[in-house]
Amino acid sequence: MYRSHTCGELRAENIGQTVTLAGWVQKVRNLGAMTFIDLRDRYGITQIVTQDESIKIGREWVLQVEGEVIERSAKNPKMTTGDIELSAKKLTVLHEAEVPPFTIEEQSDGGDDLRMKYRYLDLRRPPLQRNIILRHKMAQAVRRFLDGEGFLEIETPYLVNSTPEGARDFVVPSRMNPHQFYALPQSPQTLKQLLMVAGYDRYFQIVRCFRDEDLRADRQPEFTQIDCEMAFVEQEDVLEVFERWAKYMFSETLGIHLTEPVRRIPWSEAMEKYGSDKPDLRFGMEFSDLTDLAQGHGFSVFDDAEYVVGFAAPGCASYTRKQIDGLIDFVKRQQIGAKGLVWIRLDSDPAQADTPGGAAVKSSVDKFYSPDQVRAMAERCGAREGDLVLILCGPRMKTLTQLSALRLEMAEQLGLRDPHKFVPLWVVDFPLFEWDDETKRYYAVHHPFTSPKPEDVPLLDSDPGRVRANAYDFVCNGTEIGGGSIRIHDSALQAKIFSLLGFNDEQIASRFGFLINAFKYGAPPHGGIAFGFDRLCSLFGGSESIRDYIAFPKNNAGRDVMLDAPGSLDPEQLKELEIKLG
Ligand code: ASP
Repeated sequence: MYRSHTCGELRAENIGQTVTLAGWVQKVRNLGAMTFIDLRDRYGITQIVTQDESIKIGREWVLQVEGEVIERSAKNPKMTTGDIELSAKKLTVLHEAEVPPFTIEEQSDGGDDLRMKYRYLDLRRPPLQRNIILRHKMAQAVRRFLDGEGFLEIETPYLVNSTPEGARDFVVPSRMNPHQFYALPQSPQTLKQLLMVAGYDRYFQIVRCFRDEDLRADRQPEFTQIDCEMAFVEQEDVLEVFERWAKYMFSETLGIHLTEPVRRIPWSEAMEKYGSDKPDLRFGMEFSDLTDLAQGHGFSVFDDAEYVVGFAAPGCASYTRKQIDGLIDFVKRQQIGAKGLVWIRLDSDPAQADTPGGAAVKSSVDKFYSPDQVRAMAERCGAREGDLVLILCGPRMKTLTQLSALRLEMAEQLGLRDPHKFVPLWVVDFPLFEWDDETKRYYAVHHPFTSPKPEDVPLLDSDPGRVRANAYDFVCNGTEIGGGSIRIHDSALQAKIFSLLGFNDEQIASRFGFLINAFKYGAPPHGGIAFGFDRLCSLFGGSESIRDYIAFPKNNAGRDVMLDAPGSLDPEQLKELEIKLG
């Protein structure tokens, strides 16, 4: 027996007991005749005291200590074990340790790269431990809920063919089938649909997915989804189950009881009001279309634009010239790319009011508009005294997206993005297709198995771009947490969608023949959803980065710097695989 207790367990009740602890040395303090050691494991820290003067140990050494639990003379109320200490009778070094490359404490002094290289040491730190434990608890809650609802956890293979989620595949060469490759699944999409054909009408899996995309800050080439599918359901049924699931997760893991129904916003409204299909609803600042008010007054920038749109930033009329210049710089930045920003200030100083009792309006376009015209634009945005109205113009969709970035920036500046506040919503009625001007073809917004709304089916022939999908996203605090759809279960309709997406018969047969064939043997109506588990963990944990919730993540270049992966293959292996490198 290496230990009788953990390092987080002993309390005043244990005083007088002989116990054995094992763990890592957090700290050693040598006070002449007495040496104090903080011994740590994942449960906590216990202070060890020894009078053995010959003792020679360092940070992170692994020790086993047998001794008597005694009352501490100087209690430490900050530690759960702070009332006691362990008076060592026998101290065994189980393993010596080199000096760690960074401090293993709540706050570390190690840079990102160093901590990634020694991830196993970083994982000893309490913040990462809390994250990993949170993730575990959330995974258990997922299983509890879905099991209770009759979902079966079924594993699907990783060595498959290309699955259509729109990213590049990771591929694995097959030694037994020379010159052929498996693709790692971007999601178990088609497999879970086959499970519906097989009659397993409620399926879930906490499953790894692989997408070879250019990495952004919070993307990982392999990530985990909570993948679910249900048969004999309509959109309403899926939303109902997963709304209850989401509320269960909030209450089980965070103790937050969301009692209101989760809001549903059609995609078109989300775009119009927030310029985003994943709006952050922790704050308002909704957009207003100003095109009619802004045009026809001789201001050519607005006159020439397709769309003029703005919102009121509450209480920001007091922004200085410098702060406004900062916003102008922000919108002109490369990722946002707006040409300029028009602002209107509704000053609250009555001395400056240009109408009796009203607020003074001042704007960056006063030359072109009368005060009443400016005021009308501000009022359309719902601005009140003390507010600052911010306006962009240009092509409609692009301008909405740009204004969305500015809305988030204002929320940031106003401290409205509180990580402890959660406002989930469903975005529904996504378009089925998206037109790409470059390749001159339609792409599936979700994936090619998503069904159109029955009432929009006639539009498939006349105006595919206007067809709405039975697709939905679960969004919280400006992040897409999950997405899914009701699938097509009719082979003829599926074939039609494939052809609208530009697949010819041969491609359809070779890529999706297995699914279309399966449908011929009796496919039930079905639909589902998948949630990004890493992202859900980081949302619940209050952090921006999903990496902090993955035990062994990749860096921004897709590398595991600890394993030094990816790496090259031995010539022998290459030969066996019949692979020649260029
Ligand atoms: N397979 C989809 C995805 O990974 C989710 C779904 O439609 O269930 O986004």
